[in-house]
Amino acid sequence: MCGIVGAIADRNVLPILMDGLQRMEYRGYDSAGVAIREASGALKRFRSLGKVGNLKQLVDSSDVTGDLGIAHTRWATHGVPAERNAHPHMSGVRVAVVHNGIVENHNTLRDRLLEQGYSFTSETDTEVIAHLLAHKLESGRDLFSAVLEASQELTGAYALAVASPEDGDRIVVTRAGSPLVIGLGEGENFIASDVTALLPVTRSFIFLEEGDIAEVRRDGVTIYNSAGKLVEREIKQSTMSDANVDKGPYRHYMLK
Ligand code: GLU
Repeated sequence: MCGIVGAIADRNVLPILMDGLQRMEYRGYDSAGVAIREASGALKRFRSLGKVGNLKQLVDSSDVTGDLGIAHTRWATHGVPAERNAHPHMSGVRVAVVHNGIVENHNTLRDRLLEQGYSFTSETDTEVIAHLLAHKLESGRDLFSAVLEASQELTGAYALAVASPEDGDRIVVTRAGSPLVIGLGEGENFIASDVTALLPVTRSFIFLEEGDIAEVRRDGVTIYNSAGKLVEREIKQSTMSDANVDKGPYRHYMLK
């Protein structure tokens, strides 16, 4: 179960995403990746095996910037640690998804999607989510409805963050069995699997409840429960200091 971070803002969010990934490195992972929306509206993806530092080199050697992005550190459960299996997973250029957890019914979904003509470039359970969402977008759903319907078809534990150039001004997130938090900013908002990823940019957090699905826009956040009903969730202020999230002298956070 590894790290997710995402942001939508009026500024370049790549440094926020890369810093967020680095702040979650203590959780352990085997690869990392990011999808960023460029000025053209297209999603540009970078992925690399190994340390977030490798991904950072890749990102730094390009001149890409963007005001919306999702990023991930992966701990492989389905498919070996490899660049092709690193997240974000995309269905063509239509949609990008980062996922923590396991999709238990991935074989059934993959068989159906193969019959529908989708081709797979990874061995992950996550790629089925990308194609499932693309199929729903293709049949006219907006990004929120696509994620709501897809989540009703998934079994297992997951936290998801999804972005699409076709519905470009939002990140849609949902969680079932894996944690996900929304960080609130001024005219910018963030998501992460762990508050530590977002401490440099905000102290105000909404912890999504089981089954929640949320639309995260620059100017606000709307949260629905798993039945699609609008809900209110409490905003909590984090008093956690950066020292508290430091591993200190311990090699592993769990030893602390
Ligand atoms: N099951 C997914 C994979 O193997 C996600 C793993 C994770 O939580 O990092 O890619």
